[in-house]
Amino acid sequence: MACTMIGHNANELVGISLVSGVTLVDKSGNAIAENANPIIISIRTGETSEHRDLSLLNVSNNKVTPISLIVTPTSGAGSSVVVTMRDIAQELKEESERMDFISTASHEMRTPVASIEGYLGLAMNPATATVDARAMDYLTKAHESSQHLGRLFRDLLDTTKLDDGLIKVHLEPVELSSLVRQFAEAQAPNVQAKGLNFQFGSGFENEQANGLRMSPLYYASIDKDFLQEVVNNLIENAVKYTPSGKVSVFVTGDDHSNRIIIEDTGIGIPRDEIEHIFQKFYRVDNSDTREIGGTGLGLALVKQRVEAMGGQVWAESEQGKGSRFIVMFPRLSDEAYNQQKFLFDNQQAQLANRAPQAQQ
Ligand code: ADP
Repeated sequence: MACTMIGHNANELVGISLVSGVTLVDKSGNAIAENANPIIISIRTGETSEHRDLSLLNVSNNKVTPISLIVTPTSGAGSSVVVTMRDIAQELKEESERMDFISTASHEMRTPVASIEGYLGLAMNPATATVDARAMDYLTKAHESSQHLGRLFRDLLDTTKLDDGLIKVHLEPVELSSLVRQFAEAQAPNVQAKGLNFQFGSGFENEQANGLRMSPLYYASIDKDFLQEVVNNLIENAVKYTPSGKVSVFVTGDDHSNRIIIEDTGIGIPRDEIEHIFQKFYRVDNSDTREIGGTGLGLALVKQRVEAMGGQVWAESEQGKGSRFIVMFPRLSDEAYNQQKFLFDNQQAQLANRAPQAQQ
């Protein structure tokens, strides 16, 4: 079977190395360089690795097959490795059909939902319609549900777009504490509208612990639109799942990493649910959450966005006491930031200069 996939017969493989017998190519069909070849890397490092973004070239008929590749060293670095390859062409095809269906369906359904929402809005507006109190109550509920449906379709569409590579990540060097402050402060009225206190803070972890007030600069390379979605989503959740108390946003970090922390004093998350909440459509189902509306897509979107920017996100919580969501990005040194910022600004200036010419 392996011989059929790689295009060599068993006799040809005797005495030649595994690496020369297995020709791996990337998504564009280009051969993988030696220093990026996972088999070679695993032999050198002794670490197991798994990949789903590579294909196998059959050298006798030039057929390319997408594969799942697992490389497992038999002992430490320098040892031999066991390579497991599985043809995933059918799996990828089905995945892509599923995504196509979801994205077309959600796209098509957004238009009528927006129109229902619009007409309900008109019916509820005393300047455009007259309804009695009971009808207003029904309309309000219908309006809330149509808004929920609209959010569901928007989130579904957004998650499938990134999965499909239709949304591109535009990384740029930024200073995180001022940017997150700006995003968080725009959300402050929503926090306060629910009667919750809002707090924003920034500073090194140790300095905060020592009570020193400092505003260091936290440089990172992120996509501003993605980050705004992430911060908004986490603050919206904090508000939604907090009946009383406080929502706080901090930017902090150490020499290597930046952390954005969104903390609340709400209902918290049961310990055995924490590992699931970032899955699509997963909602904690208990007496505390049943009355609170949601789609179960917000955190899946947050995780997808954060990881697309090279970061990590996780949650810590104590049920009944509150939750803390931590988003971590690698920290750029001042030097790396200045260098990247210079290049980025230059690139933007060039693009701006080119745009008017393109229109002529
Ligand atoms: P939803 O639309 O249901 O809020 P999310 O994906 O944003 O979907 O969140 C998934 C689940 O995680 C929620 O249903 C809720 O049970 C839990 N959750 C998320 N944020 C919080 C929070 N700040 N406090 C308590 N539970 C939370």
